[in-house]
Amino acid sequence: MKLQDILNDNLVLTLEQLQEDTELLKQIETRLSELNLIDVSTVNGVWKTATETALSSFCDSAFLNNMTTKLFGRTFAKKLLEISAPLSIPQPIASINLNLSGSVGRGGDNINRDVAAVKNRLCDLGFSWIGRNGTMDEETIRTIELFQAIIDGKVNVLGVDGRIDVNGKTKKYLESAKAPRWQEMPRGSSREGFINFDNMQGDTHDFGTSWMVEVIQESARIYTTSHRNSNPNSALIVTNNLSVARGGDTPIHATHETGLSCDILLPKKNGTFGGITFRSIEYDQAAMEAMLRAIRKQNKYRINRIFFNDFSLVAKGLCQNLNDGGVHDNHAHIDILPPQF
Ligand SMILES: [Zn+2]
Repeated sequence: MKLQDILNDNLVLTLEQLQEDTELLKQIETRLSELNLIDVSTVNGVWKTATETALSSFCDSAFLNNMTTKLFGRTFAKKLLEISAPLSIPQPIASINLNLSGSVGRGGDNINRDVAAVKNRLCDLGFSWIGRNGTMDEETIRTIELFQAIIDGKVNVLGVDGRIDVNGKTKKYLESAKAPRWQEMPRGSSREGFINFDNMQGDTHDFGTSWMVEVIQESARIYTTSHRNSNPNSALIVTNNLSVARGGDTPIHATHETGLSCDILLPKKNGTFGGITFRSIEYDQAAMEAMLRAIRKQNKYRINRIFFNDFSLVAKGLCQNLNDGGVHDNHAHIDILPPQF
């Protein structure tokens, strides 16, 4: 049997049936290995502790209760077939020396070897769409501008020159171990204290800097300890809309261009989230306050500002009300600042 059979024929299998179906189990293990939950070398279609652990982790992160019910049906099969592999957090990156002999980018010297060194570094940092070669082109210039806007703490790609000078700030950041990496916000899970709403919808408006990812992960850890462990039915931190996959202009936000911005959806008293404003009877203000306090408490990166219109949380100094006609009634908007050298 295949997962597709469960899906297409609307079948429900018991855990015992699943354990005894070698073909199905092998397919399940293969998918779990693609999700980095089980070592590919152990995939053999035989039920073992590693299979059980991996399957439990998958169900937990996908909010499935199949390991509790010990029944496996259509939803389980669909999720396991469709969920995309988590993009693991890049390892800390080492500092390098670019050894530029001239400027690179818009109006620069653009010596082939220098251009290749810069593009190589940007690729290592996750701006990989520009390719590893010595060719200067518009997309590379746009990407240098994106990088410059990030290190300037801007939320729009504006007021940057697109050129890397031999002794300039852009080169220093590019070479540094503190350089921002470009990545997708991880999927999150109840264990981690946050989930990525874009990922749940298959939306790719969830790319940004490693800095923002670290802020969310650390805030979620703090929120879990400070609030969720003692209020286990409260909602997770739910991220929505960082930047588009390659950064830059996005049609649905005035800012959100540089991966330094992230929206947080409102927690509801029933443990779910979103679709409400702070005026709603369903709004869990205690959870939201704990989330904002956690975001302010984390010390990975500095918070530039938090826009959210809830007057009582504004009065507590946790956020700003912009008198924006209600734009930030249904979510909080966070901007972070680059690390200082
Ligand atoms: Zn926003």
